[in-house]
Amino acid sequence: MNVLVINCGSSSLKFQLINSDTEAVLAKGLCERIGIDGRLTYQPAGGEKKTEDKAMPTHTEAIQFVIDALTDAERGVVKSLEEIGAVGHRVVHGGEKFASSVVITEEVKKAIEECNDLAPLHNPANLIGIDACEKLMPGTPMVAVFDTAFHQTMPDTAYMYGLPYEYYDKYKVRRYGFHGTSHSFVSKRVAEFLGKPYDATRTIVCHLGNGSSICAVKNGKSVDTSMGLTPLEGLVMGTRSGDIDPAIMEFIAKKEGLDIAGLMNVLNKKSGVEGVSGVSSDFRDLANAAAEGNKRAELALEMFAYRVAKYVGSYAAAMNGVDNIVFTAGIGENDGQTRARICSYLGYLGIEIDAEANGKRGEEIVISTPDSKVTVLVIPTNEELAIARETVALV
Ligand code: AMP
Repeated sequence: MNVLVINCGSSSLKFQLINSDTEAVLAKGLCERIGIDGRLTYQPAGGEKKTEDKAMPTHTEAIQFVIDALTDAERGVVKSLEEIGAVGHRVVHGGEKFASSVVITEEVKKAIEECNDLAPLHNPANLIGIDACEKLMPGTPMVAVFDTAFHQTMPDTAYMYGLPYEYYDKYKVRRYGFHGTSHSFVSKRVAEFLGKPYDATRTIVCHLGNGSSICAVKNGKSVDTSMGLTPLEGLVMGTRSGDIDPAIMEFIAKKEGLDIAGLMNVLNKKSGVEGVSGVSSDFRDLANAAAEGNKRAELALEMFAYRVAKYVGSYAAAMNGVDNIVFTAGIGENDGQTRARICSYLGYLGIEIDAEANGKRGEEIVISTPDSKVTVLVIPTNEELAIARETVALV
């Protein structure tokens, strides 16, 4: 079956068409500037990537262009819509309502809408994408795959905040965690790759990209993760602060004359390694600047690694030990220097890194030595494939 995977944002929409039997990507692309002017990038497998300006006042036009491209006589990869068996939608926040993926119905859409105030930037956009697909592909089954679902197995000791309990009762203020599709995919793959049973393995997944989070996966279940009610908690990220003393909010608000919206903008968009370094959120730029002697770029890189190492230590404690530590996403898969920095804090776990293996990029590989007490690996994540698999399993 061919599955169309859709990741819909407020003004953009990423898509992939995946053949679920071979797991090959037939075509992929991106609609950008929806509601502004509109631009479609489309690439069939083995073909050239092309970008064209196309008017996209709403997501409905964007999805129509995606369908037109996929079924185009020259550059298309299917003859008609009938060759698309299902659509898998990435949905950011499923709150406590969704502990797994679901086939989309009117009730499911209502339940996703009820989670809108937990992810005001993402969930409404995800729903718009679902509605647009339903309009243009009536009768094609649709599945919602949630970023939060995998973490619904966390115990209350891990997901509750030290706040008045009534905020949980009234507003569901708790830790949810994100990147669940990636943490689930990668932790499963580690067990498969090492030939170990998934339900008897303790793995710490370090998903390190522009947004970064860590997850403790004990016997196949997420038992703790570093992001919280929102993706702002946890690690120092590209432009997000991660954990800070909450009293800094009042202190800076008074000093800088900022309101809540202004402060949230600083914490989400002007902090992290970019805020510390003043250079960039991209680790390639930071490494270049640090090599040229930029002290703040060096500080940002070391702070990032130190925070990751602290979380790894706390999750080893949470699981009473750890068998595997795995790196994934843009930084985790490509940046051996950052992996080495992180692992330099982990000698007490009996970890030894093989420098040659750690020098490789973008492939599934064990980077620890045979004597290392914990197996350290790189496993590329593939959220689209994970969504396609979940979709096929449900339809
Ligand atoms: P992601 O959000 O998973 O797409 O990751 C994007 C981030 O990965 C970028 O902002 C870079 O910081 C980082 N990245 C990508 N490629 C490399 C590379 N070759 N070396 C170092 N960092 C990289």
